[in-house]
Amino acid sequence: MAKAITSRTENYSEWYLDIVKKANLASNSAVRGCMVIKPYGFGIWERMQRQLDDMFKETGHVNAYFPLFIPKSFLSREAEHVDGFAKECAVVTHHRLMNDPDGGGVVVDPTAKLEEELIVRPTSETIIWHTYRDWITSYRDLPLLINQWANVVRWELRTRLFLRTAEFLWQEGHTAHATAEEALEEALQMQDVYATFAEEYMAMPVLRGSKTINERFAGAIDTYTIEALMQDGKALQAGTSHNLGQNFAKAFDVKFSNAENQEEYVWASSWGVSTRLIGGLIMTHSDDEGLVLPPKLAPIQVVIVPIPKPNEALDAKAHELMEQLKARGVRVSYDDDAKQRPGFKFAENELKGIPIRLGLGKRDLDKGTIEVARRDEKTKESQPLEGIVDHVVQLLDEIQQNLFDRAVRFREEYTTYVDTFEEFQEVIERDIPGFIYAHWDGTTESELKIKELTKATIRCVPQDQPQEDGVDMVSGKPSKGRVVFAKAY
Ligand code: AMP
Repeated sequence: MAKAITSRTENYSEWYLDIVKKANLASNSAVRGCMVIKPYGFGIWERMQRQLDDMFKETGHVNAYFPLFIPKSFLSREAEHVDGFAKECAVVTHHRLMNDPDGGGVVVDPTAKLEEELIVRPTSETIIWHTYRDWITSYRDLPLLINQWANVVRWELRTRLFLRTAEFLWQEGHTAHATAEEALEEALQMQDVYATFAEEYMAMPVLRGSKTINERFAGAIDTYTIEALMQDGKALQAGTSHNLGQNFAKAFDVKFSNAENQEEYVWASSWGVSTRLIGGLIMTHSDDEGLVLPPKLAPIQVVIVPIPKPNEALDAKAHELMEQLKARGVRVSYDDDAKQRPGFKFAENELKGIPIRLGLGKRDLDKGTIEVARRDEKTKESQPLEGIVDHVVQLLDEIQQNLFDRAVRFREEYTTYVDTFEEFQEVIERDIPGFIYAHWDGTTESELKIKELTKATIRCVPQDQPQEDGVDMVSGKPSKGRVVFAKAY
């Protein structure tokens, strides 16, 4: 693997694409906007899935699966929902091909037109709430706490590997409750699960807040979000959780009889994170040498490299170390390709973001030492072989924490409070603009004006922000607190 990664300062988006491609995470496909996720990239997704799935189960959810296709009429039952998704829907109209009678190859068989067109799901509220009508009759059927792991299609025009693709993998939770309070609690709980996952596993600090009406999920009464800051000073919406109120229950006529035997519409939430998280992971930690992975999500946490090349003694020691590390739950591999030089392997392992490299040479072995290199800080030191397993296990934790702390410091450095629009413009034009806390009067009008003038959007109304009286930067009208602006992916 040749190195030659574009540097971040030279061209950030080229740098990102270089990492995705050269670290073998994903590639473009024959279908515009759709990606091929390669085994190494999928290995990261699998680790994310496993952890998230455990967290969903711990909070009482179970998995199920609903169809890929949604009858077109379902989508239009919830007026705001169809408005939000109509522009990016893939539609199935026919179910058969035939040989062109005029010799033009294979064509759509015009006699095989579907009676009702089908939408490839952009999200599954409609088909799921149609199903819930049969599942829910009484308060005893509630709460219904279901998650689905699936692919969805949103015909996005401007796509970027992982961050925004036309087809993406995700999970979508769809829950049904007897009261408004429970649905709200659930939506907030899942935002909390996402924030915990982002911070503790991805080592990616996030802001928690709610979306403005303009940025809210189509069909929700409130959207809660986690927002992360990427190294180019742009925000990434990393996960969203929606309080759907009774909107979908009303659209699909899903009622339950409560304990007093009165009929009521069911209350709902939905929540999702996608393969976009892999893009967030890359943009939070990686550097000009390649990918940097937090140990908890790295498919390989430790690589052992024989120096200068494998031989019997080194192989025996490496295998002994591997056994000991595996016994402690460490994902370790031995890079024993005899055809490549150590220097090449070091660069390749750095490119892949493997958190720890152990360099095992004959001279070290004789001295009873081993070389330990950290990917995050690019430092290396000689360590006694005795106790090396404990050292590595501890170092993995240290690296995980260091990546988080580093990302927090970055976010602090690129967080600015401004009071005037002039200041706002100055900050948003910087090379790395970051998060900007500013006053907003609560109207869509002011929000859109700022977006039009600067491309910045309100990422969230922070949940933990103290109330503070101020004035809106553009309208001069009163504001009750600061919101977070940024340019965003
Ligand atoms: P939503 O259903 O719109 O709330 O989306 C749920 C989550 O999916 C969002 O928080 C995003 O992180 C992610 N997402 C939305 N659109 C895309 C896309 N085109 N590609 C990848 N991820 C996406």
